[in-house]
Amino acid sequence: MQASKKHFMSRRGFCLCCVGGAAYAATGGWLTPREAFAEARGLVSTFKDHAAIASIATHKLRNNISVLEGSGGNIAVLTGPDGKVLIDGGIGASRPQLTKALADLGTDPISHLVNTHWHFDHTSGNEWLHAAGAKIIAQENTRKYLSEVERVEDWDYNFLPLRQGGIPSEVFAAEHTLKLNGATIRLKRYTPAHTDSDISVTFGEADVLHTGDTYWNGIYPFIDYSTGGSIDGMIAGSDANLAVTTNKTIIIPGHGGPVSNKSELQAFHDMLAAIRENIVTLKKNGKSKDEIVAAKPGAAFDAKWGGGPIDPDFFTRLVYEGV
Ligand SMILES: [Zn+2]
Repeated sequence: MQASKKHFMSRRGFCLCCVGGAAYAATGGWLTPREAFAEARGLVSTFKDHAAIASIATHKLRNNISVLEGSGGNIAVLTGPDGKVLIDGGIGASRPQLTKALADLGTDPISHLVNTHWHFDHTSGNEWLHAAGAKIIAQENTRKYLSEVERVEDWDYNFLPLRQGGIPSEVFAAEHTLKLNGATIRLKRYTPAHTDSDISVTFGEADVLHTGDTYWNGIYPFIDYSTGGSIDGMIAGSDANLAVTTNKTIIIPGHGGPVSNKSELQAFHDMLAAIRENIVTLKKNGKSKDEIVAAKPGAAFDAKWGGGPIDPDFFTRLVYEGV
């Protein structure tokens, strides 16, 4: 676990530190971190540029399931005679590295792609993966958001619709089960959490759960209020994840160390609940948003969780938005 986390921080921390540092230098340090975050020229573009050069790390789990790390969200792959089944498609710019990583898992063709939600770092690979043979399956809101211009206020970014081939062709409202490569793959919608398009993916026999972005392992999560996410939804999503896992379950988070477990998931849940409580208390005491950010309501957690793309002040603002 520790090795995998270090690996993540050193590779991913690099480009994000550069982004923050550049914004700070360019503005003489006058911007709040939240403003600097939005101001940093096209952070989404920076993510895409980084994905274009990042290497992909492959983690083999069990029952022919692997996780590919390094192209946006963590990608699960099930191999077998029915073809490769991918859970999330990463960032399109990683196509060359992903193509090689997928080929290294065997010669089965790519046959299915499931999107855990609509965000670009999980779906911008849809177009090339469809062209490579994948049938794309998702919750119906994912298809809706990928079909229209979508603005995410807290990323300060307008996402354009995907081309036709990248849009999911098979959608469902609440639940859907696939039987592929001898595995029972259960797709289940969360109540709105990180977005209102989130689904969990459970590989029954292998006891492996992909949570999408309802769980970020070891880093503060993004919460997308523009498409239905909220802090209370994130906590409820964590409760739902805890309810369906045991100490033997392998848990694949949307971001962060890609091979996780129930105790790390519990720590994520407890962090969310504690910071929410602190912010509620400060708000009840009449503090403004800026005063609450300055009060560092996540101080007890910042050292452990604040090293990812969502820094402590930005996370405080995201929680504040929902209480
Ligand atoms: Zn997301």
